[in-house]
Amino acid sequence: MSGRHSHGGHSHRHPDAGLHVHDPGSGDAIPAVPPPRPIAAGVLEIDTMLGGWEKVTAGYLIEGPAPVLIETGSQTSVPVLLAALGQIGVGPEELAGVAVTHIHLDHAGGVGDVARAFPSATVYVHEKGARHLADPTRLIDSAARVYGPLLDSLYGRLEPTPPERIHVLDDGEEIEVGPGRTLVAVDSPGHAKHHVGLHDSLSGVLFAGDAVGVKLPDGGVLRPATPPPDFDLDQAITSLGKFAARRPSGIALAHYGLLEQPEELLAEAEETLRLWAETAEQAYRQGADIADALATRFDPLLEDVDAAHKEKLDTLNGVHSNAAGFQRWLEGRDAAAKS
Ligand SMILES: [Zn+2]
Repeated sequence: MSGRHSHGGHSHRHPDAGLHVHDPGSGDAIPAVPPPRPIAAGVLEIDTMLGGWEKVTAGYLIEGPAPVLIETGSQTSVPVLLAALGQIGVGPEELAGVAVTHIHLDHAGGVGDVARAFPSATVYVHEKGARHLADPTRLIDSAARVYGPLLDSLYGRLEPTPPERIHVLDDGEEIEVGPGRTLVAVDSPGHAKHHVGLHDSLSGVLFAGDAVGVKLPDGGVLRPATPPPDFDLDQAITSLGKFAARRPSGIALAHYGLLEQPEELLAEAEETLRLWAETAEQAYRQGADIADALATRFDPLLEDVDAAHKEKLDTLNGVHSNAAGFQRWLEGRDAAAKS
């Protein structure tokens, strides 16, 4: 039937739908996104779909009269994130806060765009990350060195955030989400010096960013995230202890999702970190390749993980990035010991 002379009833069809290969069910320019998923009282998990991959990068919306988004994901994730927030009816003036656990691009690359889309939102960040959100030039330069061509093809960049929109979080500071609900900032260096966890007073969930490591739902095992230039083993382990001391009801990883046995997870994270660090240090002392040593010892644990998921893990948290972080940490420690 031609739509040309028909009466109404086909309002979802674009007038020239017949001229294009076009799924009439999908809206124009609005990406099809998985609906945000409740994971705890007033907590929605939003899949920000880095690289189009499901369940690799998570954002979380903490609901209340002053809702706060934790993590924007990368700049390339912004259309997906905005569509997800639109699906649950968060209007442009309604989002009160955007908090990032740290300023790596897979967590904070979207901040500038999201701040523009939600003009009432305050942007919360660790003291050591704040200036990079206001002026991302140096952050982008170093990301370009680390990511190479993936910077533009996968992550995108970072738009500056007006400094007056940025609020620096002190350790223990509370972000008010509503009556009886705050997010408590937990200074948690180790993965990065500008890392902060956020502990929800209502659900008890602790949003751990990358401080606990990476465990993809489809990828099986927990692996530490030890990238250059900041990784520091002692700080990372101290931060895990700070998380444990808060007795969270669960831990939400940025990569990816809520894990409901926090004590076991934090113990596993510490043990895993120590094993990886020990393996890295042994190779370093022997003048061997740290990445090879890590891969030899730990890649067999991924034996049952299928190739597509391994690729996600490798891009996000590859053995080379971890090895480079260990190398830099070990060199720094040696240099400090000599001086
Ligand atoms: Zn990350």
